[in-house]
Amino acid sequence: MDQVTPRAHPRLCLLAKSGSGGGAFTRPQPGRGTPGGGGCGGRGCRAMVGDAGPLGVRAVGCQGAVGSRTISRALRPPLPPLSFLFVLFLAAPCAWAAGYKTCPKVKPDMLNVHLVPHTHDDVGWLKTVDQYFYGINNNVQQAGVQYILDSVISSLLADPTRRFVYVEITFFSRWWHQQTNATQKIVRDLVHEGRLEFANGGWVMNDEAATHYGAIIDQMTLGLRFLEETFGSDGRPRVAWHIDPFGHSREQASLFAQMGFDGFFFGRLDYQDKRVREKALQMEQVWRASDSLKPPTADLFTSVLPNMYNPPEGLCWDMLCADKPFVEDTRSPEYNAEELVRYFLKLATDQGKLYRTKHTVMTMGSDFQYENANMWFKNLDKLIQLVNAQQQANGSRVNVLYSTPACYLWELNKANLSWSVKKDDFFPYADGPHMFWTGYFSSRPALKRYERLSYNFLQVCNQLEALAGPAANVGPYGSGDSAPLNEAMAVLQHHDAVTGTSRQHVADDYARQLSEGWRPCEVLMSNALAHLSGSKEDFAFCRKLNISICPLTQTAERFQVIVYNPLGRKVDWMVRLPVSKHVYLVRDPGGKTVPSDVVTIPSSDSQELLFSALVPALGFSIYSVSQMPDQSPQKSWSSVLVIQNEYLRARFDPDTGLLMELENLEQNLLLPVRQAFYWYNASTGNNLSSQASGAYIFRPNQKKPLFVSRWAQTHLVKASLVQEVHQNFSAWCSQVVRLYPGQRHLELEWTVGPIPVGDGWGKEVISRFDTALATGGLFYTDSNGREILERRRDYRPTWKLNQTEPVAGNYYPVNSRIYITDGNMQLTVLTDRSQGGSSLRDGSLELMVHRRLLKDDERGVGEPLNNEGSGLWVRGRHLVLLDKMGTAAARHRLQAEREVLAPQVVLARGGGARYRLEVAPRTQFSGLRRELPPSVRLLTLARWDPETLLLRLEHQFAVGEDSGHNMSSPVTLDLTNLFSAFTITRLRETTLAANQLLAYASRLQWTTDTGPTPHPSRSRLVSTTITLHPMEIRTFLASVQWEEDG
Ligand SMILES: [Zn+2]
Repeated sequence: MDQVTPRAHPRLCLLAKSGSGGGAFTRPQPGRGTPGGGGCGGRGCRAMVGDAGPLGVRAVGCQGAVGSRTISRALRPPLPPLSFLFVLFLAAPCAWAAGYKTCPKVKPDMLNVHLVPHTHDDVGWLKTVDQYFYGINNNVQQAGVQYILDSVISSLLADPTRRFVYVEITFFSRWWHQQTNATQKIVRDLVHEGRLEFANGGWVMNDEAATHYGAIIDQMTLGLRFLEETFGSDGRPRVAWHIDPFGHSREQASLFAQMGFDGFFFGRLDYQDKRVREKALQMEQVWRASDSLKPPTADLFTSVLPNMYNPPEGLCWDMLCADKPFVEDTRSPEYNAEELVRYFLKLATDQGKLYRTKHTVMTMGSDFQYENANMWFKNLDKLIQLVNAQQQANGSRVNVLYSTPACYLWELNKANLSWSVKKDDFFPYADGPHMFWTGYFSSRPALKRYERLSYNFLQVCNQLEALAGPAANVGPYGSGDSAPLNEAMAVLQHHDAVTGTSRQHVADDYARQLSEGWRPCEVLMSNALAHLSGSKEDFAFCRKLNISICPLTQTAERFQVIVYNPLGRKVDWMVRLPVSKHVYLVRDPGGKTVPSDVVTIPSSDSQELLFSALVPALGFSIYSVSQMPDQSPQKSWSSVLVIQNEYLRARFDPDTGLLMELENLEQNLLLPVRQAFYWYNASTGNNLSSQASGAYIFRPNQKKPLFVSRWAQTHLVKASLVQEVHQNFSAWCSQVVRLYPGQRHLELEWTVGPIPVGDGWGKEVISRFDTALATGGLFYTDSNGREILERRRDYRPTWKLNQTEPVAGNYYPVNSRIYITDGNMQLTVLTDRSQGGSSLRDGSLELMVHRRLLKDDERGVGEPLNNEGSGLWVRGRHLVLLDKMGTAAARHRLQAEREVLAPQVVLARGGGARYRLEVAPRTQFSGLRRELPPSVRLLTLARWDPETLLLRLEHQFAVGEDSGHNMSSPVTLDLTNLFSAFTITRLRETTLAANQLLAYASRLQWTTDTGPTPHPSRSRLVSTTITLHPMEIRTFLASVQWEEDG
């Protein structure tokens, strides 16, 4: 146990004690939230990405910049139709130095202190995005991003040595579009001269624990595209900058490496880990972020910042701080210059000892600082002048300079050292004993699901926009647009959004932005479906199908069900729709009757129609449904608690109603497994620590969770198309365990909430699976929905852990799956959103499904996590798979793909007019001429500009992961005539975020102590045949011509 209880590290810059050289920071007093203002979803921001033209090649010599300027359509040379043009470039020999040529001079024989003036602008937290941008509600938090940018630009102009780093492009682009041409010219020059540098460059600084890799890539693409189009290669960030996210995933580092970043800086890591690293001089390392991708593809130089992202104690010269400014007038009673200089020199020397080179970095800024930039710069000017004067006066060996993260990195690279290698991740994060930031893995589960569902919806919207071409944007239903949802989704990736760590009114505003983004996508999808099907229907989107509400299907006697499948392979999908008390006839796209069922939901006595839809790859099938007269559905309840199909059998304990046994009939595996719901009573602080459980922190009051109920009231529903056990545990916790024909997993649809807190206890509810599997302390979780990491209870791979919280300290992010295995059998649970999960005993695994807390955890949000409004009540699904270990990946990879890219159901009354008189309507369509192999995921298909599509193809298996079906082998694909709706006339391969042509992209090389890394081989696109290796994602810009009739 630690003797010292370190102070908490709140999210705001908060340093209580004054150092020898200055005063204390003041912490802005959080006030009360106010209802959200306007947002970015679809209004002001639309113009930011615009249809600003293609990512063309710009002739800029060795910088290898990818196009930044709009080329008007008229000026572009005509493309030879039906032929492919390939972009083949040799590596530009000096490309490696691009972005570093404007760096300041250093003194190689001295300790160089790189001052990095920066601001950290949360895209929503205590205030909404718009409130932060405009500086509204300053009584809640003094913060106005528009003023920060105004003020910084003026200050940069005042002195050419000053530098500044900006990060959040959602704010910057909004500000940019409000500037005059003259100001824009000034800013372009500042960027060109390296005085204003962009770091990271995503739309937001995304969270790493609750995010899915697809959404991370999308949000980075959006921000980096703005920079590329606005500033060309001058504005292209060279470093990733995640100074605030609460722990760091390995997949994030892998994605950054594949986006072309040279280095990665962050501020938060476990306090024990940091201590060990400081001693071992391992604050800087090369992170090898993939087990599958060949080094150095996913290698990323990673630097832990010395003081999180705050300035050193006593040296904060913002209007939000109270430290004393430099007073050089010796006659003044406030004279402090000498003392401050002495303090600084000691600070710099001490800090320098924790790092390996003659360079060290100081982050001079914090949350929403620089609204009055002059305060900061005036004092930094003096600091630099006075400290450097000591070189002459006293032979000081400390050299201070204005710098940027990229310029600091550049010096590290030039130091030419050999660096150690890290292969695990930085989860979970603790900022002190008993202070594990593992609660936010599950906070606001309704928002987390809405975000994941919106990812699914956006991909469908993007694909239909790509397949239908211009007809999707302008059509019979109005103007369709995918941009608002794309931007809203990007905002949701922010580290206070999908994490659930914002105030309630801000969380409501995030949901509003998503909701407003859905509308123009619905218009787009209607236009596209009318175009592709040839029929103008009155399309309806039922957003509340998960709670069995859809006015059209509940009232109409006949209707159409259009099922769109965003996967690259055909899918068999069980459609479930709320209907009235009748029997229905369902016909497939060819007019043949298909089996259907109407089942009664025991809890509500309402009915749902079920039928299985077969939908081709990247396409749709239209089913028609009509009521049959004079029949009502038969009640089909039974009492023997077994459900079974051709692959699986699940047995329930007749006494308790709990699941007790799962059998994989195909592989002859039988596993006794008990599943039940429990809750941890949230700590409100105790004699070990005053730390309470809150939006960020998970801290149960005791190790053992309490039963929600030891038994469940059950109903068995058996029909030909579904078998369900309905379990009612309590007034606020129920579950349906479900099996459809042909389904190889057991579906557990849980409903939890509103969590009662009348007993005065905050509650954190888990679903736990207990088996007798001998798992040896190990379990496995995914990293952002992609590669799998091994976890060991009470253990960290790189230091000897002193475990202070046996539950919370073993929680890890689960973005899509968690599993345990005894080496023979594997029990996997797939989730429908990000959750926290663990295995606290051998054979057991648990997922936190909901939490409601009565105390704030003192990390700045200043509100208990009480989930007001619709977030009180949450429904979700866990899919349980039982497999042999060697074949488990084939099942969970493909099922996870089906979950995140689930079919979209659109409804219509039918009988619409023809879209074009001369073309007969069609009831089935596929955008692909050939299905993709199972190991290949179509990760992105989206409009880039009027004639170009963004295409990402991904190998979704890891090396050696699948022994049964050969899924882990490389796959070769021919893109010629792959798509039916358009022809690709030109193909250019880019880096992962599509802001650089791959042939031009180059990264700094680092030497590691694991031996030589092969020189990165330059990828050359030589034909339309591409090969994907395990876990590889390839990104293309494809010029296309759409087929006339879709
Ligand atoms: Zn932040």
